[in-house]
Amino acid sequence: ARCQEATVPAVPEPAQPRPEPTFDWSVFWTFLRPQILALSAAVVLALGAALLNVHIPVLLGQLVNVVAHCTRGHISSYLQEVRHPALRLLTVYCLQGLLTFGYIALLARVGEQVAGSMRKALFTSLLQQDVAFFDANRTGQLVNRLTADIQEFKSSFKLAISQGLRSSTQTAGCFVSLYLLSPKLTGLLLVALPVLVAAGALIGAFLRSLSRRAQEQVAKATGVADEALGNVRTVRAFAMEDRQAGLYCAEVDRAGWLNERLGLGIAAFQGLSNLALNGIVLGTIFVGGSLMAGDELSPGDLMSFLVASQTVQRSMANMSILLGQVVRGLSAGARVFELLTLEPSVALRGGKSIPSHSLLGRICFHHVSFSYPTRPGYLVLQDFTLTLPPCKTVAIVGPSGGGKSTVAALLERFYEPTQGTITLDGHDISSLDPSWLRGQVIGFISQEPVLFGTTIMENIRFGKPGASDAEVYAAARLANADDFIRSFPEGYNTVVGERGVALSGGQKQRVAIARALLKDPAVLILDEATSALDAQSEKVVQEALDRAASGRTVLLIAHRLSTIRGADLIVVLAQGRVAEAGTHEELLRRGGLYAELIRRQTKDKS
Ligand code: ADP
Repeated sequence: ARCQEATVPAVPEPAQPRPEPTFDWSVFWTFLRPQILALSAAVVLALGAALLNVHIPVLLGQLVNVVAHCTRGHISSYLQEVRHPALRLLTVYCLQGLLTFGYIALLARVGEQVAGSMRKALFTSLLQQDVAFFDANRTGQLVNRLTADIQEFKSSFKLAISQGLRSSTQTAGCFVSLYLLSPKLTGLLLVALPVLVAAGALIGAFLRSLSRRAQEQVAKATGVADEALGNVRTVRAFAMEDRQAGLYCAEVDRAGWLNERLGLGIAAFQGLSNLALNGIVLGTIFVGGSLMAGDELSPGDLMSFLVASQTVQRSMANMSILLGQVVRGLSAGARVFELLTLEPSVALRGGKSIPSHSLLGRICFHHVSFSYPTRPGYLVLQDFTLTLPPCKTVAIVGPSGGGKSTVAALLERFYEPTQGTITLDGHDISSLDPSWLRGQVIGFISQEPVLFGTTIMENIRFGKPGASDAEVYAAARLANADDFIRSFPEGYNTVVGERGVALSGGQKQRVAIARALLKDPAVLILDEATSALDAQSEKVVQEALDRAASGRTVLLIAHRLSTIRGADLIVVLAQGRVAEAGTHEELLRRGGLYAELIRRQTKDKS
């Protein structure tokens, strides 16, 4: 087996990184539309709060004037005079608080609703993708899209509305004040600012691309951690902890380095913008001074101008930071929408189905050639032709990597043949409803069954969601699983999987068999179903499988030749073609590849 495995080509590299997707506003609109009322209300409230913010300094100034006026001696009338502006200010404060509360609460609601529906839609879309899609994309990165990217998108969206509105309103409001104070100085400011903004935008673009690379690197590191933690047994079994830690450290270091560079860039950007902003103050005083000398400006006006222009600068600085955040959010959103709008090449549903009373279960592979989408140049199957007669067992044997599991994957329509057709009772399976085919016709039992973190009952019911308890028990009995399940204190309600009881390999396999049998499939695929088991469990599982096989078309993919002697037809698959076919005796007599495999396996055992 070792020699055979050595010939298996390396696992294909994941697909090349795709170019950065663009943000699709129409998709965004479908998520936003249901929230448009709440969003409009939030925008109106936020705008109101921002306008009040512009107005508050004016009111404050009036109050200070009154206070200053009173302190010069008219103490008796102080309360009376101060009451009116103070009350007005208090009312505006209260209103401002109320509006702030309103828009933040509404925005939180809109943000959560949009993010929630994006998550749900993305998850649904991911589950519908072709199996080839999952060959090319790491699970960790996909999970990142669901969590980090949507989170990022949501927070930038909220920031864009709340801070963006505030900053732009304040900027516009203060510009009006500036203009009223001194049109000439405002004109100068208007010349200087675009130059600075353009320079800022240039540096900003560079920083954004750096930020994107840093984000991708962080996702890559997460992917490594995810893979190692998810497969901790394999890591442990190979004593690869240090190597995996080393791999993770390298990725984290690279992410850290990129993020540090990003930090450096941001720091330089901030430093330069501070310099520019302070330069504007100096310039204003310089030019304003000359205007004062010409009696075009009073010292008080110059002071007010400085204060207002500071507010403008602060708001604009805020907006530039916000812009970076918004761009990050947009690219996170674009990555999500890219997956959302991805259409699988085989839809989950749609197509014909054969009524169960006339379903025979005859399967034919006609001249099928196939290469995996991730490895287009490499033909795994070439001109593969095979018939699985109804209610018979056909075993496929052959060297590992020869394409045995690929045959099963094609039958399940996990992939589409590159050439040739596969038929079920004469119907091309590409014209049949895939969900019917997978859900009702084919039962698939693999080498390493996966159980979900729920009760055994629910795990078996996975095979047929509407099944009654009695049907589940019957399937479990057929799979030799009923006894051991009932021996647990919680019986069928025992929770298994990562958070529950750990089942042995043989027990897991029997639960998986029960799950596959529950749908009473006409076709059963057993992909090396017992090869991961010890001799004791293999016997019990084999019994269950033999029982399960009767009355069904069975495709048996076998590693251990001992399990296939009884098959009606044995096919030897080598280099993607049927090299030999016949019964055990026929093939032994022929003295070809099969006889050689048998000889080798007997020798290995002795
Ligand atoms: P067997 O079941 O006979 O061991 P497989 O059908 O698993 O063989 O694999 C046949 C060939 O296809 C091997 O070279 C293997 O590396 C390749 N292969 C299997 N699965 C994939 C996949 N998802 N993407 C790309 N190549 C694959």
